[in-house]
Amino acid sequence: MGEWVLNGGAWPNDQVQLCAQGLLLRANGFPSTSGRIFYRGNRKSVRVAFTEPLIQFTLSVIRRAHELEHEPMPLPLRQSNRCFRCSLNAICLPDETLHLLGSVEEEGETPPKIRDIVPRRDDLATVYVTGHGTRVGKSGFEVTIVQPDGDKTTLPMKDVRHISLFGNVQISTQLIHECLEQGISVSYLTAAGRLLGMAHPINTKNVLVRQAQFRRFDDEQTRLRLAQAIVRAKILNQRTLLRRNGSGVKRDVLQKLKEAADRTSITGEIGSLLGIEGWAAKLYIEHFPSMLKVAGAPPGQVVMNGRNRRPPKDPVNALLSLAYSLLAREVYAAVVAVGLDPLLGFYHRIEPGRPALVLDLMEPFRPIVADSVVLRVLNTGELEWSDFYMGPESCALKDKGRKTFFLAFERRMHEMVTHPVFGYRMSYRRILELEVRLLSRFLMGEFPEYRPLVTR
Ligand code: SF4
Repeated sequence: MGEWVLNGGAWPNDQVQLCAQGLLLRANGFPSTSGRIFYRGNRKSVRVAFTEPLIQFTLSVIRRAHELEHEPMPLPLRQSNRCFRCSLNAICLPDETLHLLGSVEEEGETPPKIRDIVPRRDDLATVYVTGHGTRVGKSGFEVTIVQPDGDKTTLPMKDVRHISLFGNVQISTQLIHECLEQGISVSYLTAAGRLLGMAHPINTKNVLVRQAQFRRFDDEQTRLRLAQAIVRAKILNQRTLLRRNGSGVKRDVLQKLKEAADRTSITGEIGSLLGIEGWAAKLYIEHFPSMLKVAGAPPGQVVMNGRNRRPPKDPVNALLSLAYSLLAREVYAAVVAVGLDPLLGFYHRIEPGRPALVLDLMEPFRPIVADSVVLRVLNTGELEWSDFYMGPESCALKDKGRKTFFLAFERRMHEMVTHPVFGYRMSYRRILELEVRLLSRFLMGEFPEYRPLVTR
C-alpha cells in the first residue's frame, strides 16, 4: 500500500472497491477520476481520487483475487467484530468453521463461543399457490394472486423467498423474470404435490464447488464415507422420533435401531448400507402407528398399512408423500443456491432426472421435519379423517386440508431448535441451508469430514 491509503480517510478496502468500479466505468468509455463514499455511522462523505498508486494497487488486488480462486479458502478471522457486518458471513461461517476444525485453540485454552453472526431465522415467506385457473403475476413491487372468481391477494415482493405452484396455476413471464432477478426460486408441483421442477437464477457462481463435487464423487472412499454418515444420521433421527413420541415402543426396538446405525460405520460398500437402511426403515415404519392418533377415523379402521405411495392408500401415507415432496423442494432450492449439482449424489444411485444429491441430503431430515409435521397435524386434530378423499385404491387430501398442511409445514421450517453441534438456536430452514453449505465446504476440502445433523 502507498500514499493512497490516506486518500480522504476512507478505509483501504472501500477505496479499492470504489476504484474497481471507476475502472469499469472507464473501460466502458465514461470518464471517471474520483468517487465518493458515504459512511452512515458518522454521516461523513469522503472523496476518493483514483490516483495512479490506487489504480495499480487495485489491479494487483484483482490479479491476486484471480489467483486465490484456485487456492483453498484461508482460515477465517478469530472472534473479529468485522464478521458481524461482513457480507460473506453466511458463506464464510467464521466461528462454525473454527469450531469444526477444532485446531485453533492453544492447548488448555477454552474454545471461543460461537457467536450469533448470521440471522438464525429468515422471516421471508414461501408462497403456496393452488387451485386450477389461479393466476400469479406482478404489479409494481408486488406479487398478485388472482383466483378464478376474481378474488385478488397481493404481497410485497421483498417479503418473498420462494413461490410454489401446484397443478394448473398460471404464472406471468414478468413475474418469473423478476423472481430470477431477485434470486427468488419458483417450484412447479403436480396438484397432488409431486415436485416436477424448479426455476432459479443461472448458477454463474460457484462452478468450483461443482467441480469439487464431481472430483470427490470419483473417489470411492469419499462416496462411502458420505453415504455412511447420511444413513447413520437418518436412522438415529428415526430412533429419536420414535423414542420421543412412540407409545409402548419396546426398548429393544430402539436398541436395534441404534445397532443398525452403528453398523453403518463398518460397512465396506454402499450396497450393504442400502440393506441396513431398508431394514431400519421397515422397523421404524412398523412402529410408526404407535406415534399416531387420527381423529375421526372409522372404528376398526387401520390408519396406516405400512408405507405405500403412487398413489398413497391411506391418510398417513398421503401426508408423508406430500411432506417429502415439500422437503425435497426445500433441499433442492438450498442445493442450487449453494452451487452444488442436485443430480450428483453420493448415496442414491445416479439416474437421468433423479435429484440424487437432494435425496441424500433429505434423508436425515425426513423423520425430524417431514414425519414430525405429519404426526403433529394428525395428533393435534388439525387434520381429521374427513379432510381426505378416500378411494378404493387411493387417498388424497382435500383442498382445505392441504392449506392446513402447508401452514403446518411452514411452522415446522420456522421452528427454532438448538443446533446439536454449534449450541445456538436456529430455524430448521436455516439448519438445512447450513447443512448444504457445510457439505460443500467438505467437498472443497476445507473440512476433514461432513457430519449430517443428528438430533438428541
Ligand atoms: S466473516 Fe469471514 S470473510 Fe468476513 S470478515 Fe469474518 S472471517 Fe473475514
